[in-house]
Amino acid sequence: MKETRGHFSRRVNRALDDPKLEKALIGAMTGLRARRNKAFESFDFEAGRADLKRRRQENLERLPELLEQFTQRVSAVGGVVHFAKDAAEAREIIGQVCWNAASGLPAGTRMIVTKTKSMASEEIGLNAYLESLGAEVVETDLGERMVQLTHTHPSHLIAPAIHLTKEDAAEVFGTEPTVEAIQRHARESLREKFVQATVGISGANIAIAETGTIVLVTNEGNADLTTTLPPVHIALFGIDKLVATLEDAVAVLRMLPRSGTGQVMTSYVNWITGPSRSADIEQSLTIGVHGPREMHCVIVDNGREAMLEDPIFRDALTCIRCGACSNACPPFMAVGGHQFGGHVYNGPIGLVLTPFHHGLADADLGNTLCAQCNACQEVCPVDIPLPRQILEHRRKGRKSLRKRAVIELWKRPALADTLMRAAAPVAGLVPGAPRLARVPYRDRVEKSHVDGEPLTIFASCLADRAWPASAVALERIAAAAGFKVGFPKGQWCCGLVAANAGDFGAAGNLATSLAGSLRDSKGLVVTPSASCFGAFTLDARDWGVELDEGVTSRVRDSTRFVLKLLERNLSLVDGERMSLKVAYHDSCQTLRQLGLKSEPRRVLELAGYEVVDLPDIANCCGFGGSFSLEWPRVAERLADWKLDAIAKTGCAVVASDNPGCLIHIAAAARRRHVRLRVAHVLELVAEHLA
Ligand code: SF4
Repeated sequence: MKETRGHFSRRVNRALDDPKLEKALIGAMTGLRARRNKAFESFDFEAGRADLKRRRQENLERLPELLEQFTQRVSAVGGVVHFAKDAAEAREIIGQVCWNAASGLPAGTRMIVTKTKSMASEEIGLNAYLESLGAEVVETDLGERMVQLTHTHPSHLIAPAIHLTKEDAAEVFGTEPTVEAIQRHARESLREKFVQATVGISGANIAIAETGTIVLVTNEGNADLTTTLPPVHIALFGIDKLVATLEDAVAVLRMLPRSGTGQVMTSYVNWITGPSRSADIEQSLTIGVHGPREMHCVIVDNGREAMLEDPIFRDALTCIRCGACSNACPPFMAVGGHQFGGHVYNGPIGLVLTPFHHGLADADLGNTLCAQCNACQEVCPVDIPLPRQILEHRRKGRKSLRKRAVIELWKRPALADTLMRAAAPVAGLVPGAPRLARVPYRDRVEKSHVDGEPLTIFASCLADRAWPASAVALERIAAAAGFKVGFPKGQWCCGLVAANAGDFGAAGNLATSLAGSLRDSKGLVVTPSASCFGAFTLDARDWGVELDEGVTSRVRDSTRFVLKLLERNLSLVDGERMSLKVAYHDSCQTLRQLGLKSEPRRVLELAGYEVVDLPDIANCCGFGGSFSLEWPRVAERLADWKLDAIAKTGCAVVASDNPGCLIHIAAAARRRHVRLRVAHVLELVAEHLA
């Protein structure tokens, strides 16, 4: 049954109201991010990622051939490979293997099945199925065991119990609330199960075609016991885990622990090639010596073939399940994986995978929690375009009334103009809505008396209506540099608001009409909105429209435009002004879409400011276009973290080059009664003009 939006909103609000969850998530996420960054100090992330992406994509090209080769190799060493087209078939195959294994047990003995952490087994609902057959299923990964005993499900790909505190774990295990006591209890209670188990079930992080080997990457040691003590071992994994060679596997191993847990290598890496065997007695081969006598690989499709066929989603099959995208995701840190994702796979990759494995309705509400900040793709060790893929699912998913109302309004610029003017005095009172300027930029435009090179301002709907000071500053800087500035008043939105809401049709129409309004403009078209620059010149091609290249090729973002001006002519600014410390907030699009990190800082420095970087609490301020309208409380949480980070710098001014971020941070500062000046980079530069 589809979850209703009301029910989902209550879940989100409960998560936001849970201080224990907030503490657990902030501690875990910031810790994992810091460890990941440290781990990549000794290894070139960009080079490793390019290598791994290339290998994984080549593996996908050869998937049918690799599956065949893997099957042959596993059979040659005494193992068995089974293919399952969907979850039901995979459950039945595993159920049958377990049933056969249990046939040798004394009558009345309940079969014990031990398991390592396996998202594929969650995907196919294996535990409940085996229990329905009468088996006792024992999760042996500590976090997964906590999840099993609390009757919940994993809230993170690699740290399933990240939502639980040690007090929660102690309650589950009936021990003292100390790490030592919980570990001792788990160790003592699980040892017995390892020894008694008839079947051990694992996943596989990698399956190597040239050797028929599966590779398991773990830290606790439970995988060794699960895959060696029981007489039967079953490895369950998706077709996407196939790689061609040992070198490919090593490429995965270089990136997986570093990206996931920030380790150069995990405590254990198991390479398992078929069942245990020996030829020590007169060189005659015997199977099942110290380890299992049977080894089964159950390889499941369950929607992966469909993903493979889809040009937008194909890359998702290169995922190595490191969980780094969740660790980097600001809304994930605010609400946790039980909200951010489907009921099995969570985090950004969960939003991408879930519709293929469990249907769109399982994650379309969770999908709306993505702020499109691009932090996930930035850290992904295979560079999967997760934000684009999430948006693609969003197009097909349910849309809230608020979002639909905003899109309908945005499609009608004249109506929007009337309403925004009327609402300006009260707009800031609506949760998540920006405070609107009583006098938009279009009413402030001065007729240029400069007789210089022409330049056109594209203010963007947000700068025009909510942060006109940025466009005024751009006009002053351009005029000071000798440009004759123009502002075609027919301009409206670039389409980003509609695209973020998942309506590419409306986005494409808005972008087309913007291009039309700028067609007759002269010279460069400069915008103070980095995200609108990215949307209009880069994203719009995804919306199914061909924009007039005569217009798009002339569009510039204000950061690089002003940097060039200052580098050519530093006398534009008064270098004798007193230096002021400014905290700089990187807008998601400037940093991750346009790749501009040093440029805005350099602009401020050339204009005489001292720039201070923000410490890592969350990557995004929480604005996210229509995101802050749809999820005002989540957006506020992210803005609060941003304010906390700004406070740590001791600066009284924060700057950015994106009006959306400025609007959102300023609203949060007002809400919390924080004395903070929030300014566009252009405003600060204009104040230092000579
Ligand atoms: S999508 Fe990328 S970052 Fe996320 S789990 Fe997969 S490989 Fe890791």
